[in-house]
Amino acid sequence: MAEMMKAAAVSEPGKIEIVEKQVPEPAEDEVLIKVEASSICHSDVFTVEAQRPGIELPITPGHEVIGEIVRLGDEVSNWSEGERIGVGWHGGHCFECEQCRQGNFLQCENQEVTGLTRDGGHAEYMTARKEALAAVPDDLESVDAAPMMCAGVTTFNALRHTDARPGDLVAVVGIGGLGHLGVQYASEAGYETVAISHSADKEEYGYELGADHFIDSSAEDPAQALKELGGADVILCTAPVAESIENVVGGLATNGEVSVVGVPGEEISVNVMDLIGSRGKISGWSTGHARDNQDTLEFGSLREIRAETETFDLDQYAKAYDKMMDGEVRFRAVIEF
Ligand SMILES: [Zn+2]
Ligand SMILES: [Zn+2]
Repeated sequence: MAEMMKAAAVSEPGKIEIVEKQVPEPAEDEVLIKVEASSICHSDVFTVEAQRPGIELPITPGHEVIGEIVRLGDEVSNWSEGERIGVGWHGGHCFECEQCRQGNFLQCENQEVTGLTRDGGHAEYMTARKEALAAVPDDLESVDAAPMMCAGVTTFNALRHTDARPGDLVAVVGIGGLGHLGVQYASEAGYETVAISHSADKEEYGYELGADHFIDSSAEDPAQALKELGGADVILCTAPVAESIENVVGGLATNGEVSVVGVPGEEISVNVMDLIGSRGKISGWSTGHARDNQDTLEFGSLREIRAETETFDLDQYAKAYDKMMDGEVRFRAVIEF
Protein backbone atom coordinates (compact mmCIF):
# COMPACT_ATOMS: atom_id res chain seq x y z
CA MET A 1 0.00 0.00 0.00
CA ALA A 2 1.03 3.55 -0.67
CA GLU A 3 3.06 5.31 2.00
CA MET A 4 2.28 8.82 0.81
CA MET A 5 -1.06 10.35 -0.07
CA LYS A 6 -2.66 13.55 -1.27
CA ALA A 7 -4.87 15.45 1.16
CA ALA A 8 -6.62 18.79 1.39
CA ALA A 9 -5.26 20.80 4.30
CA VAL A 10 -6.20 24.05 6.01
CA SER A 11 -2.87 25.49 7.17
CA GLU A 12 -4.16 28.90 8.21
CA PRO A 13 -7.74 30.25 8.43
CA GLY A 14 -9.24 30.58 4.96
CA LYS A 15 -6.35 28.88 3.18
CA ILE A 16 -6.93 25.52 1.45
CA GLU A 17 -3.95 23.59 0.04
CA ILE A 18 -3.48 20.16 -1.47
CA VAL A 19 -0.49 18.54 0.23
CA GLU A 20 1.50 15.31 0.07
CA LYS A 21 1.69 13.61 3.44
CA GLN A 22 2.15 10.22 5.01
CA VAL A 23 -0.73 7.78 5.07
CA PRO A 24 -1.81 7.78 8.75
CA GLU A 25 -1.49 4.74 11.02
CA PRO A 26 -4.71 3.61 12.70
CA ALA A 27 -4.60 3.52 16.52
CA GLU A 28 -5.69 0.34 18.33
CA ASP A 29 -9.38 1.30 18.27
CA GLU A 30 -9.33 2.81 14.77
CA VAL A 31 -9.44 1.67 11.15
CA LEU A 32 -7.62 3.01 8.10
CA ILE A 33 -9.98 3.92 5.27
CA LYS A 34 -9.22 4.31 1.56
CA VAL A 35 -11.60 7.13 0.72
CA GLU A 36 -13.90 6.68 -2.29
CA ALA A 37 -16.11 9.77 -1.93
CA SER A 38 -16.12 12.74 0.43
CA SER A 39 -18.76 15.41 0.05
CA ILE A 40 -18.56 19.07 0.93
CA CYS A 41 -20.92 20.38 3.60
CA HIS A 42 -21.64 24.01 4.48
CA SER A 43 -20.18 23.14 7.90
CA ASP A 44 -16.76 22.71 6.25
CA VAL A 45 -16.65 26.46 6.92
CA PHE A 46 -15.98 25.79 10.63
CA THR A 47 -12.78 24.01 9.63
CA VAL A 48 -11.70 26.19 6.70
CA GLU A 49 -12.15 29.38 8.74
CA ALA A 50 -10.93 27.70 11.97
CA GLN A 51 -14.08 28.94 13.67
CA ARG A 52 -14.23 26.44 16.52
CA PRO A 53 -12.21 26.77 19.73
CA GLY A 54 -9.38 24.28 20.08
CA ILE A 55 -9.05 23.53 16.37
CA GLU A 56 -5.45 22.64 15.57
CA LEU A 57 -4.02 23.52 12.15
CA PRO A 58 -3.13 22.09 9.74
CA ILE A 59 -6.23 19.94 9.47
CA THR A 60 -8.06 18.08 6.70
CA PRO A 61 -11.79 18.90 6.44
CA GLY A 62 -14.53 16.52 5.29
CA HIS A 63 -17.22 14.81 7.37
CA GLU A 64 -19.38 13.04 4.75
CA VAL A 65 -17.09 10.18 3.85
CA ILE A 66 -17.49 6.78 2.19
CA GLY A 67 -14.58 4.42 1.74
CA GLU A 68 -13.16 0.94 2.18
CA ILE A 69 -11.50 -0.36 5.32
CA VAL A 70 -7.95 -1.31 4.37
CA ARG A 71 -6.39 -1.87 7.80
CA LEU A 72 -7.71 -2.62 11.30
CA GLY A 73 -6.32 -1.46 14.63
CA ASP A 74 -5.48 -4.30 17.04
CA GLU A 75 -8.62 -3.78 19.13
CA VAL A 76 -11.10 -3.67 16.27
CA SER A 77 -13.04 -6.95 16.05
CA ASN A 78 -16.47 -5.93 14.71
CA TRP A 79 -15.32 -4.66 11.30
CA SER A 80 -13.31 -6.29 8.52
CA GLU A 81 -10.86 -5.24 5.86
CA GLY A 82 -12.62 -4.73 2.53
CA GLU A 83 -15.90 -3.54 4.11
CA ARG A 84 -17.35 -0.34 2.71
CA ILE A 85 -18.22 2.09 5.48
CA GLY A 86 -19.31 5.67 6.03
CA VAL A 87 -18.12 8.28 8.53
CA GLY A 88 -20.08 11.41 9.42
CA TRP A 89 -19.74 14.49 11.63
CA HIS A 90 -19.75 12.44 14.85
CA GLY A 91 -16.22 11.10 14.97
CA GLY A 92 -16.41 9.17 18.23
CA HIS A 93 -17.24 9.42 21.91
CA CYS A 94 -15.57 8.66 25.22
CA PHE A 95 -18.08 6.15 26.76
CA GLU A 96 -17.27 7.61 30.19
CA CYS A 97 -18.69 11.14 30.58
CA GLU A 98 -22.13 11.76 32.13
CA GLN A 99 -23.74 12.14 28.67
CA CYS A 100 -22.22 8.90 27.40
CA ARG A 101 -23.29 7.08 30.59
CA GLN A 102 -26.84 8.10 29.72
CA GLY A 103 -26.44 6.91 26.14
CA ASN A 104 -26.37 10.44 24.70
CA PHE A 105 -23.33 9.81 22.55
CA LEU A 106 -24.08 12.80 20.33
CA GLN A 107 -23.76 15.05 23.39
CA CYS A 108 -20.49 13.46 24.58
CA GLU A 109 -18.44 16.06 26.44
CA ASN A 110 -15.26 14.73 24.83
CA GLN A 111 -16.57 13.94 21.38
CA GLU A 112 -14.47 13.86 18.28
CA VAL A 113 -15.70 15.66 15.20
CA THR A 114 -14.55 14.32 11.84
CA GLY A 115 -12.64 16.93 9.88
CA LEU A 116 -12.59 19.31 12.84
CA THR A 117 -10.96 17.73 15.92
CA ARG A 118 -9.32 15.06 13.73
CA ASP A 119 -8.46 14.81 10.05
CA GLY A 120 -11.45 14.21 7.80
CA GLY A 121 -12.17 12.68 4.44
CA HIS A 122 -10.93 15.16 1.84
CA ALA A 123 -7.85 12.93 1.47
CA GLU A 124 -6.94 9.66 -0.18
CA TYR A 125 -6.83 7.94 3.22
CA MET A 126 -8.13 8.72 6.70
CA THR A 127 -8.41 7.00 10.05
CA ALA A 128 -11.66 6.73 11.99
CA ARG A 129 -12.64 5.33 15.37
CA LYS A 130 -14.51 2.05 15.31
CA GLU A 131 -17.62 3.46 17.04
CA ALA A 132 -17.92 6.09 14.29
CA LEU A 133 -18.42 3.63 11.41
CA ALA A 134 -21.63 2.90 9.50
CA ALA A 135 -22.01 -0.04 7.07
CA VAL A 136 -23.03 0.96 3.53
CA PRO A 137 -25.70 -1.05 1.65
CA ASP A 138 -24.31 -2.59 -1.55
CA ASP A 139 -26.78 -0.89 -3.89
CA LEU A 140 -25.71 2.63 -2.90
CA GLU A 141 -22.92 4.16 -4.98
CA SER A 142 -20.27 5.83 -2.81
CA VAL A 143 -20.89 9.23 -4.42
CA ASP A 144 -24.61 8.94 -3.63
CA ALA A 145 -24.05 7.67 -0.11
CA ALA A 146 -21.55 10.33 1.01
CA PRO A 147 -24.05 13.22 1.36
CA MET A 148 -26.23 11.03 3.57
CA MET A 149 -23.55 11.06 6.26
CA CYS A 150 -24.41 14.64 7.28
CA ALA A 151 -27.04 16.29 5.05
CA GLY A 152 -29.02 13.05 4.96
CA VAL A 153 -28.78 11.97 8.57
CA THR A 154 -29.42 15.50 9.81
CA THR A 155 -32.78 15.80 8.06
CA PHE A 156 -33.78 12.12 8.49
CA ASN A 157 -32.88 12.05 12.17
CA ALA A 158 -34.46 15.43 12.92
CA LEU A 159 -37.73 14.31 11.33
CA ARG A 160 -37.86 10.99 13.13
CA HIS A 161 -37.28 12.69 16.47
CA THR A 162 -40.39 14.86 16.07
CA ASP A 163 -43.88 13.70 16.98
CA ALA A 164 -44.98 13.61 13.31
CA ARG A 165 -47.08 10.58 12.37
CA PRO A 166 -48.08 9.28 8.93
CA GLY A 167 -50.52 11.68 7.31
CA ASP A 168 -49.39 14.70 9.36
CA LEU A 169 -48.56 17.90 7.51
CA VAL A 170 -44.77 18.28 7.41
CA ALA A 171 -43.13 21.24 5.69
CA VAL A 172 -39.52 21.42 4.59
CA VAL A 173 -38.11 24.94 4.21
CA GLY A 174 -35.37 25.29 1.61
CA ILE A 175 -34.68 22.96 -1.32
CA GLY A 176 -30.88 22.82 -1.21
CA GLY A 177 -28.28 20.35 0.03
CA LEU A 178 -30.30 19.38 3.11
CA GLY A 179 -33.79 20.26 1.96
CA HIS A 180 -33.84 18.22 -1.24
CA LEU A 181 -33.15 15.16 0.92
CA GLY A 182 -35.57 16.31 3.64
CA VAL A 183 -38.46 16.46 1.16
CA GLN A 184 -37.71 12.89 0.02
CA TYR A 185 -37.53 11.57 3.60
CA ALA A 186 -40.74 13.35 4.59
CA SER A 187 -42.59 12.02 1.58
CA GLU A 188 -41.28 8.45 1.94
CA ALA A 189 -42.02 8.48 5.68
CA GLY A 190 -45.70 8.95 4.87
CA TYR A 191 -46.22 12.60 5.76
CA GLU A 192 -48.29 15.03 3.73
CA THR A 193 -45.28 16.96 2.54
CA VAL A 194 -44.93 20.66 1.77
CA ALA A 195 -41.85 22.02 0.04
CA ILE A 196 -41.21 25.71 0.75
CA SER A 197 -38.70 27.60 -1.33
CA HIS A 198 -37.83 31.20 -2.09
CA SER A 199 -37.29 30.20 -5.73
CA ALA A 200 -40.40 29.73 -7.85
CA ASP A 201 -38.34 27.64 -10.27
CA LYS A 202 -37.98 24.89 -7.63
CA GLU A 203 -41.70 24.09 -7.83
CA GLU A 204 -41.52 21.32 -10.40
CA TYR A 205 -38.45 19.84 -8.74
CA GLY A 206 -40.18 19.94 -5.34
CA TYR A 207 -43.00 17.82 -6.74
CA GLU A 208 -40.48 15.45 -8.36
CA LEU A 209 -38.89 14.92 -4.95
CA GLY A 210 -42.26 13.82 -3.61
CA ALA A 211 -43.83 16.99 -2.23
CA ASP A 212 -47.64 17.13 -2.17
CA HIS A 213 -47.67 20.94 -2.01
CA PHE A 214 -45.30 23.73 -2.97
CA ILE A 215 -45.17 27.19 -1.41
CA ASP A 216 -43.20 29.95 -3.12
CA SER A 217 -42.20 32.09 -0.13
CA SER A 218 -41.07 34.94 -2.39
CA ALA A 219 -44.63 35.34 -3.71
CA GLU A 220 -46.80 34.51 -0.69
CA ASP A 221 -46.63 34.49 3.11
CA PRO A 222 -45.58 30.89 3.91
CA ALA A 223 -47.17 30.97 7.38
CA GLN A 224 -50.51 31.97 5.90
CA ALA A 225 -50.19 29.34 3.15
CA LEU A 226 -49.48 26.63 5.77
CA LYS A 227 -52.50 27.79 7.79
CA GLU A 228 -54.64 27.39 4.69
CA LEU A 229 -53.44 23.78 4.47
CA GLY A 230 -54.56 23.26 8.09
CA GLY A 231 -51.32 24.21 9.82
CA ALA A 232 -48.05 22.30 9.90
CA ASP A 233 -47.41 19.65 12.54
CA VAL A 234 -43.69 19.90 11.82
CA ILE A 235 -41.66 22.46 9.90
CA LEU A 236 -38.10 21.39 9.15
CA CYS A 237 -35.97 24.48 8.48
CA THR A 238 -32.91 23.69 6.38
CA ALA A 239 -32.02 27.08 4.85
CA PRO A 240 -29.28 28.95 6.76
CA VAL A 241 -31.30 32.17 6.65
CA ALA A 242 -32.98 33.66 9.75
CA GLU A 243 -35.91 35.10 7.82
CA SER A 244 -36.80 31.67 6.42
CA ILE A 245 -37.36 30.43 10.00
CA GLU A 246 -39.07 33.58 11.29
CA ASN A 247 -41.56 33.56 8.41
CA VAL A 248 -42.99 30.09 9.06
CA VAL A 249 -43.51 30.00 12.85
CA GLY A 250 -47.02 31.44 12.41
CA GLY A 251 -47.90 28.45 10.21
CA LEU A 252 -47.78 25.83 13.00
CA ALA A 253 -50.75 23.64 13.84
CA THR A 254 -51.67 23.07 17.50
CA ASN A 255 -48.72 21.44 19.29
CA GLY A 256 -46.63 21.90 16.16
CA GLU A 257 -42.86 22.07 16.09
CA VAL A 258 -40.33 24.02 14.10
CA SER A 259 -37.19 21.87 13.92
CA VAL A 260 -34.16 23.88 12.86
CA VAL A 261 -31.18 22.14 11.25
CA GLY A 262 -29.71 24.92 9.08
CA VAL A 263 -27.62 27.45 10.99
CA PRO A 264 -28.13 31.12 10.08
CA GLY A 265 -25.24 33.48 10.68
CA GLU A 266 -27.52 35.77 12.72
CA GLU A 267 -30.01 35.43 15.58
CA ILE A 268 -33.65 34.78 14.85
CA SER A 269 -36.56 36.83 16.15
CA VAL A 270 -40.05 35.38 16.53
CA ASN A 271 -43.45 36.59 17.70
CA VAL A 272 -44.02 34.64 20.91
CA MET A 273 -47.78 34.89 20.43
CA ASP A 274 -47.39 32.56 17.44
CA LEU A 275 -45.95 29.95 19.81
CA ILE A 276 -48.36 30.55 22.68
CA GLY A 277 -51.34 30.49 20.33
CA SER A 278 -50.36 27.14 18.86
CA ARG A 279 -48.64 25.69 21.97
CA GLY A 280 -45.85 25.38 19.45
CA LYS A 281 -42.15 25.03 19.95
CA ILE A 282 -38.90 25.69 18.16
CA SER A 283 -36.18 23.07 18.53
CA GLY A 284 -32.77 22.33 17.07
CA TRP A 285 -31.23 19.12 15.84
CA SER A 286 -27.73 18.13 14.83
CA THR A 287 -26.66 15.04 12.83
CA GLY A 288 -26.54 11.57 14.36
CA HIS A 289 -24.20 8.91 15.65
CA ALA A 290 -22.95 5.98 13.59
CA ARG A 291 -26.08 3.86 13.95
CA ASP A 292 -28.22 6.86 12.94
CA ASN A 293 -25.97 7.25 9.91
CA GLN A 294 -26.43 3.61 9.02
CA ASP A 295 -30.22 3.87 9.48
CA THR A 296 -30.18 6.80 7.04
CA LEU A 297 -28.21 4.80 4.47
CA GLU A 298 -30.51 1.79 4.88
CA PHE A 299 -33.68 3.88 4.52
CA GLY A 300 -32.15 5.59 1.49
CA SER A 301 -31.47 2.18 -0.02
CA LEU A 302 -34.95 0.86 0.85
CA ARG A 303 -36.79 3.83 -0.63
CA GLU A 304 -34.33 4.82 -3.38
CA ILE A 305 -33.60 8.22 -1.87
CA ARG A 306 -30.66 9.85 -3.60
CA ALA A 307 -28.81 13.11 -3.26
CA GLU A 308 -28.31 15.13 -6.41
CA THR A 309 -24.56 15.50 -6.74
CA GLU A 310 -21.88 17.29 -8.68
CA THR A 311 -18.47 15.60 -8.58
CA PHE A 312 -14.97 17.10 -8.34
CA ASP A 313 -11.39 15.84 -8.07
CA LEU A 314 -9.52 16.37 -4.81
CA ASP A 315 -7.33 18.96 -6.57
CA GLN A 316 -10.48 21.03 -7.16
CA TYR A 317 -11.51 21.19 -3.48
CA ALA A 318 -10.93 24.94 -3.09
CA LYS A 319 -12.92 25.64 -6.24
CA ALA A 320 -15.75 23.32 -5.18
CA TYR A 321 -15.79 24.83 -1.69
CA ASP A 322 -16.14 28.37 -3.10
CA LYS A 323 -18.89 27.22 -5.41
CA MET A 324 -20.74 25.61 -2.49
CA MET A 325 -20.35 28.77 -0.38
CA ASP A 326 -21.77 30.81 -3.25
CA GLY A 327 -24.79 28.50 -3.37
CA GLU A 328 -24.01 27.43 -6.92
CA VAL A 329 -23.78 23.66 -6.41
CA ARG A 330 -26.80 21.55 -7.26
CA PHE A 331 -27.02 20.23 -4.56
CA ARG A 332 -24.08 18.43 -3.04
CA ALA A 333 -20.49 18.77 -4.21
CA VAL A 334 -18.72 15.43 -3.84
CA ILE A 335 -14.99 14.77 -4.14
CA GLU A 336 -14.68 11.48 -5.98
CA PHE A 337 -11.46 9.43 -5.76
ZN1 LIG B 1 -22.18 18.63 7.59
ZN1 LIG C 1 -18.53 10.98 26.51
